[in-house]
Amino acid sequence: MDEATFRHWSARAADWGVDYRQSLRDRPVRAQTEAGEIAGQIAQSPPEAGEAMERIFEDFEKVIMPGMTHWQHPRFFAYFPANAAPVSVVAEYLVTAVAAQCMLWQTSPAATELEAKMLDWLRQAIGLPADFSGVIQDSASSATLAAVLVMREKALAWNGNRAGLAANPKVRVYSSDQVHTSIDRAIWVSGIGEENLVRIPTVGERRAMDCVALAAAIEADRKAGYVPAGIIACTGGTSVGACDDIAEVVRVARGHGLYVHVDAAWAGAAMICEEFRPLWQGVEGADSVVFNPHKWLGAQFDCSAHFLRNPDDLVRSLAIQPEFLKTHGQDGVVNYSEWSVPLGRRFRALKLWFLLRFHGLSGLRQMIRNHVRWAENLAERLRNEPSFEIVTEPVLSLFSFRHAGGSDADAHNLALVKAINDDGRIYLTQTRVDGRIAIRFQAGQFSMTQDDAETAFKVIVELSKKVV
Ligand code: PLP
Repeated sequence: MDEATFRHWSARAADWGVDYRQSLRDRPVRAQTEAGEIAGQIAQSPPEAGEAMERIFEDFEKVIMPGMTHWQHPRFFAYFPANAAPVSVVAEYLVTAVAAQCMLWQTSPAATELEAKMLDWLRQAIGLPADFSGVIQDSASSATLAAVLVMREKALAWNGNRAGLAANPKVRVYSSDQVHTSIDRAIWVSGIGEENLVRIPTVGERRAMDCVALAAAIEADRKAGYVPAGIIACTGGTSVGACDDIAEVVRVARGHGLYVHVDAAWAGAAMICEEFRPLWQGVEGADSVVFNPHKWLGAQFDCSAHFLRNPDDLVRSLAIQPEFLKTHGQDGVVNYSEWSVPLGRRFRALKLWFLLRFHGLSGLRQMIRNHVRWAENLAERLRNEPSFEIVTEPVLSLFSFRHAGGSDADAHNLALVKAINDDGRIYLTQTRVDGRIAIRFQAGQFSMTQDDAETAFKVIVELSKKVV
């Protein structure tokens, strides 16, 4: 591609992005295509001769876009958000154009130095103490995997990587059943094995780990010859926002010399507002904490902030220095690839810099407070509607509800979710609470307004009357 053509299409792509964002309210939130519909329109084999950009771009709009679910749609209330604030999109255009691979300090000093600064800004913003250092991981799943590898290595006296797990006693990790499946994956991938992820029952409305049962399980495991390694606690579990009592978890962990990782992938963003910090009270005692600025905060996917009390443990678990990665004469610099499982790294800090400077913490706090308020109001309105029950109370901006109807409540509520998503004005997902289907609602879209919450109420009530 010559420079003039590159310039033309870069500008076209940027213009297209703005038009796309403007058109979102008129689009159905969830893709309305059938399985295989998009694949059926793509050629079976790669072209032998190059094609005109005009044609390629046309196909992008015609073939691809109908199969996209619109994660930036203001009425996306499913899962958790993956907000890309426009200012972070602009930063990503620049990162894409520069296209640096930032694995070592010397492969782009600005990327490393900005990353250290941005993680320190975020640390201050969410109220973690100054003895935490941060790194950007590609996802919370990767951060949790890294934390599990550290807890495993520490528990095995740094012998796991070298001798393998077969040569060591069995390691145990503890969590509730409210944690995200990325915890299971980290346990599988680290070789610890699902059977050694000990599920602790939860208690109370917050669905927090029962810390008496936690301590008892650790003691029993020790007596049985296992090696308890760490505890994974959650603040804002994916299903219904479960929050462990972090202070209590830390107290138990300290008593047994265990490592504590806190997964606050979604809820961590809300900690920029002081009034929500009681949800993770005691977090300053954890060893590792992850939250995703790419979820609620607005930093374009992907961007996961991982904070560590002692990054040396992480580096000791993950760093490998073949000659070609050595940076002679640059001792003392941070090489962030030693802090994560993948070697290659995108320049992710720039979008944080743009985002935090453009909106300021007060702008981001306002957005989060609005979402929490609108979700609470919606829960109240549904509670007051005949035939609706609130199944789990709002935790920040997430709650779940159920509609009474039909002879099979689970089937009825699944049918309601399907009808809502086929309708397209809003997008919701379901979960299971104590074995029964419930419908999740979370407010978190960057461009959401109070009117969008109003639309959600109307659509839910209107369609509940049509689904039998
Ligand atoms: N932890 C929680 C609580 C989540 O809700 C999610 C995803 O929604 C994850 C972890 C995984 O996040 P990621 O996609 O960044 O790996």
